[in-house]
Amino acid sequence: MLIDLRELLSGSQDERIEKVSIESDSFDTGIAKYSILEKPEFELCITRIAKNKLEIKAESFVVLDIPCDRCLESVPTKVEYSVNEIVDFSDNAAGEEAKEEKDYIGGYELDVDRLVFGEILISMPGKTLCTPDCKGLCSICGHNLNVSECGCDRESLDPRMSVFKDILKNFKEV
Ligand SMILES: [Zn+2]
Ligand SMILES: [Zn+2]
Repeated sequence: MLIDLRELLSGSQDERIEKVSIESDSFDTGIAKYSILEKPEFELCITRIAKNKLEIKAESFVVLDIPCDRCLESVPTKVEYSVNEIVDFSDNAAGEEAKEEKDYIGGYELDVDRLVFGEILISMPGKTLCTPDCKGLCSICGHNLNVSECGCDRESLDPRMSVFKDILKNFKEV
């Protein structure tokens, strides 16, 4: 969803509150891609705080379908985010660096998905578990140990190996 900012920048409007929504059905972190299970409509508040300067605020959440770190079962995960940005459109602020940072601004349009995705990314949980005591997958046969015991002899494995297995697993998800 794109929002035209020209009226705000020209000064014919000082504040704009708009009901917006995320268009995309998936969220790509650059490493993994998650389905968006829930994405409520939310209010985006844009205020002209100075000549060529806009303040953008919003607060909402999404529910992402993130696999459990141990057993890979789907875990619907609520990610709350808030937007609190100031965009300077004056010529001296429009350097290449500033443009790269504000990739949700293209010309005089604001891209809601891009704006919000940047915030979701920094609000993502570091670890996702289906339950705090998830037993994970059998390191030998891959069976989900939350469902039942598979009977493999895992005791003989060096427990430090499981760390490497986790890392390998994460690589495979890419
Ligand atoms: Zn799990
Ligand atoms: Zn097994």
